[in-house]
Amino acid sequence: MSGAAALSASAAVDAERCAPSDDGADGLTVLHERGQRQVFCGLAGIVWLHRKIQDAFFLVVGSRTCAHLLQSAAGVMIFAEPRFATAILGDRDLAGMADCNDELDRVVGELLARRPDVGTLFLVGSCPSEVIKLDLDTAAERLSRQHQGRVRILAYSGSGIETTFTQGEDTCLTALVPQMPASDELALLVVGTLPDIVEDQFRRLFAAIGIAPVYFLPARRAAELPPVGAGTKILAAQPFVGETVAALGKRGAELVSAPYPFGIEGTRAWLGAAAAAFGIGEDKVDAACAAPMARAARGLARYREQLDGKRISFLPDSQLEIPLGRFLARECGMELVELGVPYLDRRMMTAELDLLPAPRRLSEGQDLEAQLDRLRADRPDLTVCGLGLANPLEAEGLTTKWSIELVFSPVHGFDQAPDLAELFARPLNRRARLAF
Ligand code: SF4
Repeated sequence: MSGAAALSASAAVDAERCAPSDDGADGLTVLHERGQRQVFCGLAGIVWLHRKIQDAFFLVVGSRTCAHLLQSAAGVMIFAEPRFATAILGDRDLAGMADCNDELDRVVGELLARRPDVGTLFLVGSCPSEVIKLDLDTAAERLSRQHQGRVRILAYSGSGIETTFTQGEDTCLTALVPQMPASDELALLVVGTLPDIVEDQFRRLFAAIGIAPVYFLPARRAAELPPVGAGTKILAAQPFVGETVAALGKRGAELVSAPYPFGIEGTRAWLGAAAAAFGIGEDKVDAACAAPMARAARGLARYREQLDGKRISFLPDSQLEIPLGRFLARECGMELVELGVPYLDRRMMTAELDLLPAPRRLSEGQDLEAQLDRLRADRPDLTVCGLGLANPLEAEGLTTKWSIELVFSPVHGFDQAPDLAELFARPLNRRARLAF
């Protein structure tokens, strides 16, 4: 194993095939699919997590492929002492001929000696480390004892064996939950990574409404973990943090059911649900939201003109498909053709499903070839998909949008609602220009 900076690849994972079936549970007809799927793996989450958590270092225990994925996804940062790297498992490690734990201890020791600024070190599991059953949880405990008081060391899985790339954030945040201090005070905990600029906007809105104290997970510094307990009201900012919410629930916290803060309507309802959990009336929320809502409506109007009546399909990739579909249908007038989600977490989607205009088709999981056949028959105006599928589909004359861009960009909240709509209008405008 050797310490090395990290590059990129998408993961195509073959799972057991089975025939699609319809399910009428909770009145929703869902097409369930299992087969070949094409998604990035959970290592992609390191790109936004390392930017957000400024005292954290992410050490992937993986292969050269993992290193390539990270370096490509995160840009060329090898000259800027990035806060991520890959400890590469060599042939001898994979063949069980070397003691990976000894090697890992050495790599971590060297890393921490070189980087005294690191407050929290995440050991990130990958497909290779999981295939050889390298127990990173135990390694994290052992290394924590060795480096007692100097640095917190935690482990989580970022492997492509998980369903989709956003689960990397969920497993990372879940690893932080046992470390959070206990407190039963009434407090709001916003869960899911938000860019600092968006977090600051929400802090101002919560203060104007009268909600306090408010904490964010992840915090800007992992060393400043928010408290959790029976008084904690969880407000999810991202739909893919279900495991984190479950872990927080075991510590006494309660999930506030709300749509996600995408678009004007979603943001208003999200803030309203938080206010209701604190016993604050709608009048306070209306007063705090009036000006930013009016500003967002003015900005959104021109994109609604461009998107109105256009047909859109989502291939399953990020878990953002349902809230974004709801925003595009209700606020931008788009028609939902197929809405594909990697997995349908009804607990995290209750309020969204109540608002979602019925798409022509709602599918869960993926059987890639079958889905592409449906897409070619549907020929929507816009297809939201992973990076690996975008170019081939463009070559077939379909207009595409990379779904991963929607996770990297600031898209939550009132002020970002026009920017969010613009992300969908841009590829349509580009295609229209190319047609002339
Ligand atoms: Fe590929 Fe797995 Fe490494 Fe991701 S974790 S880059 S899917 S080998």
